[in-house]
Amino acid sequence: MPVFIALILIVILGTAYSLNKRKQKGINSTPQAQDYSHFQSAKEQLSHYIKNGSKEYRVLGTLDSSTCDRCGNMDLKVFPVDKAVIGKNFPPFHNGCRCTTITSSNIKISNGKRAARDPITNRIIYVPDTMSYSEYKDRFLNK
Ligand SMILES: [Zn+2]
Repeated sequence: MPVFIALILIVILGTAYSLNKRKQKGINSTPQAQDYSHFQSAKEQLSHYIKNGSKEYRVLGTLDSSTCDRCGNMDLKVFPVDKAVIGKNFPPFHNGCRCTTITSSNIKISNGKRAARDPITNRIIYVPDTMSYSEYKDRFLNK
């Protein structure tokens, strides 16, 4: 019987130790997996742009109150495809980055609107596609 209790204690303490170690390292498996997949899809998107002969791409940030300054400053910036560096001028820029890109040919297809989140109602609204994150921030977040 004491052996049985000791085994249970080892399992409980082991699990607690392992969870604590993961917590210390900031490991949270789901976001990490998402970031890996975001990085992989960025690589695929970039190679797709190269294969299709796209010359430039535009970074699109997310127009809401959770967007960080780094991503906000990259919003609507245009870069040459042959100078793209994932993490530097091609998203993801950090873990949990929600930025995306479009090519210059897609810019022309745009209907002139882009989605944004109204911080008061928390609903999706449409703003002119020329509105940058800093303009959105001035208009909706810095009231
Ligand atoms: Zn971002």
